[in-house]
Amino acid sequence: MKLREGLFSVDIRRPSSSVKLLGGAVSRDADFIIGLAMRRAANVVDLMGLLPQLYDPHSELLLLRLCMGIAKLFFGLKTCQPVHMEEATLFFDKGLRGSIENIVVCGGPFFGNLQWRLASLPIRFGGLVLYSAKLVSSYAFVASRAQSWVLQDHILCDSGICGMDDDYVSALACLRDTIPSFDFSGFTNKDTVPSKSQQTLANVLFSEMVKDMEVHFDMTMRQKTVFECLRPPHARDFLLAIPIDGLGQHISPVEYHTILMYRLMILLFPVDAICPVCHNACLDSFGEHAVHCKELPGFKYRHDIVRDVLFDICRRAGIFAKKEAPMNFLTGPSDGRSTLKPADVLVFGWVGGKQCVREFDRGFSSHKVK
Ligand SMILES: [Zn+2]
Repeated sequence: MKLREGLFSVDIRRPSSSVKLLGGAVSRDADFIIGLAMRRAANVVDLMGLLPQLYDPHSELLLLRLCMGIAKLFFGLKTCQPVHMEEATLFFDKGLRGSIENIVVCGGPFFGNLQWRLASLPIRFGGLVLYSAKLVSSYAFVASRAQSWVLQDHILCDSGICGMDDDYVSALACLRDTIPSFDFSGFTNKDTVPSKSQQTLANVLFSEMVKDMEVHFDMTMRQKTVFECLRPPHARDFLLAIPIDGLGQHISPVEYHTILMYRLMILLFPVDAICPVCHNACLDSFGEHAVHCKELPGFKYRHDIVRDVLFDICRRAGIFAKKEAPMNFLTGPSDGRSTLKPADVLVFGWVGGKQCVREFDRGFSSHKVK
């Protein structure tokens, strides 16, 4: 590289080969990059170690995701060759997994590779958005380079360097091995690179992971069903809730642990037993009955109060509505009673003269309108 003489005063110190810029390494020196990445990963893992002092899994998970997660390492993953980041990503992932495990099961058993994989998925795929650095490192560097290809060519136009260097080629080759089913030919030329490379690659990688999960983890029918239920819109909205006591948005530690364990398919009870509250149902080890037990307050209270308020609003506004209305629309009169549960609130004469059913979910997602 050509250096212009006299650009800086001689007494201004500057490193001979490497520099730290915006928290990331600008260097060709492997030791410098590895050292910087490791220091950063170690700082983040140390920070994660302080989370249990909050004694509040709701706040802990939120802080872990937004302030201590992959965001702390992401810049380095985008700017440095993946091969030099490997040690730091493994160290970070070990710390992250331990921290999630601590929040979800508090040192208990049943947090395995399936739970770790589920936690690493984006929210729309049913995950906890706690990305594994190893996974992100597989596409972040390629995506960043590909997205800024035109800019790089512009900046380096007088330097004699053009096109992508060996770092990009080898990172792309590794990514090809990770996602063999994807056609990477568009990433070999700056004219055909997708404009949103990072989004494209992340989507492809996570879609492949989701497809592979049922086979890789030999999931049971129950696990497949729960996994399917985690993915519709709003099914994970509870993850986005900021804990505010005044608005009733702060989920208690017991509730939060239970929700996380249920959604990560972890046993809530070691054996099936009779429900100690209603005494007439089997309290299965996955807690299916526990979240729906008619005798339990809390969930039911909140569900009923929302239903009653809406019903009251309709009544006062002169809209004809019915509470707990039977739904017989899928059964003929000859079939007898419908096995469908009644509608929480059935509103007559909604938009266009249609009937409207409002169902309130007890599982921290939003209500459904049919
Ligand atoms: Zn019960």
